[in-house]
Amino acid sequence: MSPPSVPSLPAVRPLGRVLIVDDNAELVETLRAVIASGIPGLAIETAANGAAALSMAQKGFDVAIVDVKLPDASGIDLIQPLRVASPFSEVLLLTGFASVDAAIGALRSGAFAFVLKSFRPEELISIVEQALGKVQLKREREEFERRYRDLVEVTDVLVFALDADDKVALMNRKAAAMVDIVSDQALGRPFLESWMPAEDRVAMRAALAGTRDGTAPAHHHRAYEVETAFVDQSVHSTSRRRVRWHLSRSPDATGLVYGIGIDITERRALERRAADAEALSAMGELAMNLAHEIRNPLNAAVLQLHLLNRNLDRLEAEEPTRAALKDRVRIVGDEIGRLNRLLTEFLELARPRGIAREPVHLPKLVDEVLDLEEESAKGRGIAIVRDVSAEGCVAIGDREKLKQVTINIVVNALEAMKQGGRLKASVHPEGERVVMTFEDNGPGIEPAVLASVFDPFFTTKEAGTGLGLSIVRKIVDQHGGDVVIASERGHGARVTVSIPMGR
Ligand code: ADP
Repeated sequence: MSPPSVPSLPAVRPLGRVLIVDDNAELVETLRAVIASGIPGLAIETAANGAAALSMAQKGFDVAIVDVKLPDASGIDLIQPLRVASPFSEVLLLTGFASVDAAIGALRSGAFAFVLKSFRPEELISIVEQALGKVQLKREREEFERRYRDLVEVTDVLVFALDADDKVALMNRKAAAMVDIVSDQALGRPFLESWMPAEDRVAMRAALAGTRDGTAPAHHHRAYEVETAFVDQSVHSTSRRRVRWHLSRSPDATGLVYGIGIDITERRALERRAADAEALSAMGELAMNLAHEIRNPLNAAVLQLHLLNRNLDRLEAEEPTRAALKDRVRIVGDEIGRLNRLLTEFLELARPRGIAREPVHLPKLVDEVLDLEEESAKGRGIAIVRDVSAEGCVAIGDREKLKQVTINIVVNALEAMKQGGRLKASVHPEGERVVMTFEDNGPGIEPAVLASVFDPFFTTKEAGTGLGLSIVRKIVDQHGGDVVIASERGHGARVTVSIPMGR
């Protein structure tokens, strides 16, 4: 025996709501009694005319049983407004006569079925049960569809559906956002032509065709995967993402192909950067070995050149001939010197060696470098002005490397001032940093050139290596500092280096 019902259980929602619309009160009561006894748990309400029925329908109902002839309306005319008032409902028409015409008329007007006023109880109950079942199914289907729609919309993957002509039948919010349109605007547009670069369309078309006729390669489990760019081709945009698409054919007769895409732009970019770094470090090592290999024969050549020069002095020849030969030797010597400098600087740049960490008194260091360059500056008609604080300008770092930084910057300034000029060097504490500035009044640097001065091998000088400022930047970086170059054409250049202080 079933246990006694527990009174504290929450009220059970009625299994369904039935609305009976008829002006014959006696018939209404019979209907109500039959239905209530046959299908327990239903909420049954009644209305005596069309107007009352419509106002009650606003509260919602599942199945309405409506007399064809009402005092104020035809039951047939009531079907549509009733179903609009309560979506997912069905209407049964109640008629006095059984005729084929009546049946057809009822069904045409959108009724679920018709019921004879001379119904047999079990017949009525069965029809009402069927109608309730259909309503229930429609509700469930709607609920499923709603959940799928939500899922498709909120998901982080891209979703599309294409019809037989590759036109968009569905595109979720994420995919639409990526190509910068509203989902609805995508409908009907050619998918490949609109958002795929020409070079990727062939692969996509092949994948779509394979998906449609089910010839996907065996290891793909009846689904195709293809990677393409997904592009916003509107005039103002240059955004381009890499997307991996998983294609599958709709199982029903619609012939749609569904695509689910994952944005792999960042992953691909990372992979490429890692590969680049690897190639670079392999190259760097190779280049370093090569540089070392070049150095030895170069040194041998310098030695030979030196001997050649000495032999020339002893050569029995006319003075102009000897002078011409010595000139050639000098040129070769200069070229070798240039190569040697290039190698030294290149090795300096490429060597992964760490830096020392000791207190470095930067004003003293700058003074030393300027003392060193004073002579050559004077020879070029350049005055050096020093503005150096003695106090509080100690950085933690590598003395030799910081000296290299200073030399490279000062030499650049001196080389720039071909017509003479003035170099002003200053060192001052600024917050937690020591700031060194070197200001010349040479020709300055064109904006186009300024953008490249830190690039390795970038030079505007005939015998330049283009590595001086690259080295400056690398060393300053290693010290956790900053270097900037400012210049206005015709107003010289100002290089500012700041290095964290040592405490
Ligand atoms: P290099 O001195 O061998 O050319 P750098 O890397 O030191 O290599 O300099 C790169 C380029 O930056 C120079 O060729 C020059 O055009 C420019 N430059 C650097 N310093 C100055 C400056 N003080 N005034 C004008 N141009 C400069």
